Amino acid sequence: MHEPVSVTPRSLNALRPVVGEEEVEALRELAAPLRGMRVLHVNATAFGGGVAEILSTHIPLLRDLGLEAEWRVIHGDEAFFRVTKAMHNGLQGMELPFSPEMQEIWREGNRRNAAQLEGDYDVIFIHDPQPAGIPAFRERRGARLWIWRCHIDTRTPHPPFWSFLLPYLSAYDAAIFTMAEYVGPDFPVRRVAFIPPTIDPLSPKNAPMREDEARAIVARFGVDPHRPLLLQVSRFDPWKDPIGVIDAYRLVKRERPEVQLALVGSMAHDDPEGWWYYDRTLRHAGEDPDLHVLHNFHGVGAWEVNAFQRAAAVVIQKSLREGFGLTVTEALWKGKPVVGGRTGGIPLQVHDGETGFLVDSVAACAEKALYLLSHPEEAQAMGARGREHVRRHFLCTRGLRDELALLREWMA
Ligand code: UDP
Repeated sequence: MHEPVSVTPRSLNALRPVVGEEEVEALRELAAPLRGMRVLHVNATAFGGGVAEILSTHIPLLRDLGLEAEWRVIHGDEAFFRVTKAMHNGLQGMELPFSPEMQEIWREGNRRNAAQLEGDYDVIFIHDPQPAGIPAFRERRGARLWIWRCHIDTRTPHPPFWSFLLPYLSAYDAAIFTMAEYVGPDFPVRRVAFIPPTIDPLSPKNAPMREDEARAIVARFGVDPHRPLLLQVSRFDPWKDPIGVIDAYRLVKRERPEVQLALVGSMAHDDPEGWWYYDRTLRHAGEDPDLHVLHNFHGVGAWEVNAFQRAAAVVIQKSLREGFGLTVTEALWKGKPVVGGRTGGIPLQVHDGETGFLVDSVAACAEKALYLLSHPEEAQAMGARGREHVRRHFLCTRGLRDELALLREWMA
């Protein structure tokens, strides 16, 4: 287990202009009886992927509300993260082998992190399957309440992975899933709640940015800011289907030769498969000066992702399986219509024909992207509705409110 992750302090007051006075006051009231509560969040990576993104805002805001919140990242070597990536895929239904050696690597990693976890807390949140074994391996309880926070869709897991994990999950007092549909069969925890994730409207990823600055930034990466840009921001992962996005872009380009595509993906350290899939994506992209495959090592950080999302004409998230799809929330917040795969949390955000389009194939993805490029006014109206939808349902204050309400109920 690593040292606590250091996060930039945040103040809820800064969010008042975005979410309103009442919302901030309601949060302070809700948090008042919880002041001083020691809360720990544990996950697998401090950077890359949606969970790290959420915690980097959530932790400082909990502190601003008076809770003693901490965030720790588990320690694991490449073999461990290779196994947890297979588990992640297996739990989402991929039919992969799960050998006794792999099981032992996961157990050993969890055993070790459990032993290294010191301190006393009131509540410990464990995010996702990578560290899910920690409470079962503890000699001392160390917290009144252990909560498993599952961000993935376990409704149809590949059975070997799920039956392996279930006994470890029994050690939890409560669990939180993104959506009710995501709870896998025979889930052993009695108290279960649902909280869809949220974004921070003032983080570097989502803060306001001038249009000319956004254009200047994407130009630095070789994109022509005066021609339409299609964009997908995602880890390089088969579920995100970057190959399908390239195929859709090629179909669009037949009709609109001026179109460009950027695939922007970060490399999370708990995702060793990422490099392999990045290479595969590059090979599929071939030599096309209008197709840009970029990742954080090229210098695409949060502010640059913000710029790409603002500079895009259409944002695509052609996932085949998806937990929630924070990239969709981020794009809608910037007033961009999204063409998204009809899966996971995407339909909660993309209302077909209202805030974008839901698609099930490369051909449909190309058709809808083309439609939006050819109907800019409609695209703009959809984007505006998307932003309003996010304002109402998917800003970080709502996530805080849901979590604080649960803590009050569960700690009573
Ligand atoms: N992300 C990023 N840089 C990239 C690619 C992704 O910062 O190059 C961020 C993205 O903006 C989003 C998160 O990583 O905040 C991905 O979350 P999402 O829920 O879309 O997918 P996950 O990776 O958790 O499956």
